[in-house]
Amino acid sequence: MFELEVRGSFSAAHQVKGYPGDCAGVHGHTYLVSIAIRKPRLGKLGMAVDFRRVHTFLEGVLKKLDHKNLNTLAFFKKHNATAEWIAVYIHQEMKRKIASLRSVTVWEGLNDAVTYQED
Ligand SMILES: [Zn+2]
Repeated sequence: MFELEVRGSFSAAHQVKGYPGDCAGVHGHTYLVSIAIRKPRLGKLGMAVDFRRVHTFLEGVLKKLDHKNLNTLAFFKKHNATAEWIAVYIHQEMKRKIASLRSVTVWEGLNDAVTYQED
């Protein structure tokens, strides 16, 4: 089994509505996003996936979030704009393109991260 990791990043504003502290106010982060893909075997070229193809998909998804106020986007009107829900959002978007997607990790700053995977 091969597990591959592809990373990207975006910068955005958000607020955690209902949070009892300063995270309830609008502020910003540069988020690092890492996606993991699992493939049981290699293709003809000896690659499990084409990194370039994955980067193209990931950049397309992150572009929708970059330099936005996340709370104004339709998905985050239904879900609080936490790192957890950002990971779910990116997972849903990437799963449409990459069936073998395993997990999405979102780093909010240098020290805090959450990983989402189905099951
Ligand atoms: Zn924050």
